[in-house]
Amino acid sequence: MRVLITGGAGFIGSHLAEAYLERGDEVYIIDDLSTGSLYNIKELKENERFKNKLFIHIDTILNHNTMLELTGTCDIVFHLAAAVGVQYILNNPLESIKTNIQGTEKVLELCDKFKKKVLIASTSEVYGKHLHAPLVETDNIIYGPSSKFRWSYAATKLMDEFTALAYYRTTGLEVIITRLFNTVGPKQTGAYGMVIPRFVSQALKNEPLTVYGDGNQTRTFTYVKDVVEALMTLVETNGAVGEVFNVGGTEEISIIDLAKRIIKETGSKSTIKLIPYDEAFGKDFEDMQRRVPGTEKINKLIGFEPKTDFDTMLRKIIRYMKKK
Ligand code: UDP
Repeated sequence: MRVLITGGAGFIGSHLAEAYLERGDEVYIIDDLSTGSLYNIKELKENERFKNKLFIHIDTILNHNTMLELTGTCDIVFHLAAAVGVQYILNNPLESIKTNIQGTEKVLELCDKFKKKVLIASTSEVYGKHLHAPLVETDNIIYGPSSKFRWSYAATKLMDEFTALAYYRTTGLEVIITRLFNTVGPKQTGAYGMVIPRFVSQALKNEPLTVYGDGNQTRTFTYVKDVVEALMTLVETNGAVGEVFNVGGTEEISIIDLAKRIIKETGSKSTIKLIPYDEAFGKDFEDMQRRVPGTEKINKLIGFEPKTDFDTMLRKIIRYMKKK
């Protein structure tokens, strides 16, 4: 099979590329390296077993001709290219909206032209600021005002979902939408705000861990290999087409407890420093206080259960970052 991965040099994309290459498939990557990096796919490029199986295009998904050729060539498309990371979105508001809206439109337009099945990576951000748990796919969506730019990310990803579902309804294009809940693992960078690589890096340098707000906000982290397995299974499952699925872990943890666990696990001398949100992100910021996925839908359809528990994923990330 020929697999096109937009954002294939990104954190999740590079793991997905590796899994398909290991299975013997051909992988085509398109990535503009805005948040992805060649470092993520270096080992894949240098692996003799993957010679003539991996094709890398450093380009934007907005380039019609490149995307036309790649979509025409491949059998299936994973659309992972997007502006990601709270810090990145706040620093690049306009470009982020353009990438997420226009990029997805381009991908869907071409998938429809060639009738190629497409999986869209959406996000748990889409739910907005709920306090209840778990979040299920049929839940309402609650955002803050447009002055708070964090929500632009959620709004663009929600629009991507609507556009994909509109294609499904209108032309019968086979689309699958996955809402990923704080995917973590080796290769994730802290440069765009992501909390675990930031805390681990701070702990390894014995620097204070920068906990934003009071640290009582919670997240449920999901190991990247579990996510990859879920995505690969979904695209081979008929009942997944035209549907939206949460993909997420089970262990809800507060950010302050996360910081304590990382200090303990790394044996670090770091302290914890509470930083008010407005100091970290400016005055127009609002965090999501709680985020726990309901995974009954994906569990029913493909038997998805995250295999990697929180301690194991943390250890794997720490080992990787120490080595790096
Ligand atoms: N966070 C933090 N310190 C950091 C980076 C993030 O306290 O150095 C917090 C952030 O405010 C949020 C949580 O950790 O409450 C998860 O942040 P991340 O950006 O990883 O993911 P998201 O906010 O998209 O869930």
